[in-house]
Amino acid sequence: MQADHSIDGGEEPPSDHRAQNLKTFTPAGKGFWHDVPTADWNDWRWQMKHRITTVEQLQKFLPTLTPEEFAGAKLANTKLALGITPYFFNLIDPADEHCPIRQQVIPRIEETHTASWEMSDPCGEDSHSPVPGLVHRYPDRVLFLVTDRCASYCRYCTRSRLVSNASGYDFHPEFDKQIAYIAAHPKIRDVLLSGGDPLLLSDEKLENLLSRLRAIPHVEFLRLGTRIPIFLPQRITPELCVMLKQFHPLFISIHTNHPRELTTEVRDALARLADAGIPLGNQSVLLKHVNDDTEVMKALVQKLLMCRVKPYYLYQCDLIAGSAHLRASVAKGLEIMEKLRGHTTGYAVPTYVIDAPGGGGKVPINPEYVLCRNAGRVLIRNFEGKIFEYPESADGKPCGQPPQEITEPELA
Ligand SMILES: *Cc1c(COP(=O)(O)O)cnc(C)c1O
Repeated sequence: MQADHSIDGGEEPPSDHRAQNLKTFTPAGKGFWHDVPTADWNDWRWQMKHRITTVEQLQKFLPTLTPEEFAGAKLANTKLALGITPYFFNLIDPADEHCPIRQQVIPRIEETHTASWEMSDPCGEDSHSPVPGLVHRYPDRVLFLVTDRCASYCRYCTRSRLVSNASGYDFHPEFDKQIAYIAAHPKIRDVLLSGGDPLLLSDEKLENLLSRLRAIPHVEFLRLGTRIPIFLPQRITPELCVMLKQFHPLFISIHTNHPRELTTEVRDALARLADAGIPLGNQSVLLKHVNDDTEVMKALVQKLLMCRVKPYYLYQCDLIAGSAHLRASVAKGLEIMEKLRGHTTGYAVPTYVIDAPGGGGKVPINPEYVLCRNAGRVLIRNFEGKIFEYPESADGKPCGQPPQEITEPELA
């Protein structure tokens, strides 16, 4: 199938996504909601109001709902709410039980199975929280949670203990206290707004919050973590971009896991943010049967560059309770990283990290490129498996010997 890059939010029902080239941009369109006026469809508040939140709606819109999904959806509202924007729902391929979009947002009964090593707060955020809604783990930056709501709910959410309030955490951020803590700690030069999704706040509320943070002299750098450009690209209005532009340097990290999420709607929303001078990064989670595949991951990172988004982190999936069915192995993550580095644009290669269980923070995990290192030399391997020597200088003086390639027989 030839992709038509000119179509924008077309009227056609969802196509057979499996046939699509992973690297083309195609519209999600109105699909099941084809009779909704375009003005409503493009209104983010309409999208929020018409989210799929009940098992009855799921049965209606997804006739291929499996018994595992049905049972999962029935129980979702006791754990992490079911919520999917109509826009994002249209990306699901109803004919494919293993559709990578479907697996991210449709609950399954496996979510109720908890292994002994799984946790409700896998990154130990609550124990690093000096005031409610603020996580201060690293010396110079804080995570500022602004809401417990998202446009759609990811089934592997690391913050599902509080997000959507299905398990009764009752998260109520107190901006005054959070801001006072930051103002009282001059070492904090970087504030990361997340949640929940900070772009669900109204423009006015967000502007007020950003202004208050910008008024703190030692806060140099602001950033937002959001999946709104993916779940609800309609929210990225020109007015929002004009407002955000006042707070530079302001970065945005989006969250996308599969190249099919990068539709024409998303590409256009990301272009509006980039045109407002906002540097964009992406955070992906390595998910089984979603993106634990070199070709899928390569298509995703290359497509992100086409949207002016730098792949920032690839996360090993946290040990969140009920996520075993979605977790891929570290061996798989390393294999994918090895097949990216050197094989494609360096800008496209994210840092693969494990957020250390219990609260140790993000730890980078890399394929081994240093074969041996001592006071005299470093032996390294390149992306093709060729081995090279770099002369080390233990005393800081320049080394006499030029670097040279080592061949296998010499090593033996
Ligand atoms: C991820 C995270 C940050 C930001 O980390 P960077 O590596 O600077 O992107 C800050 N605080 C907490 C608690 C985090 O989990």
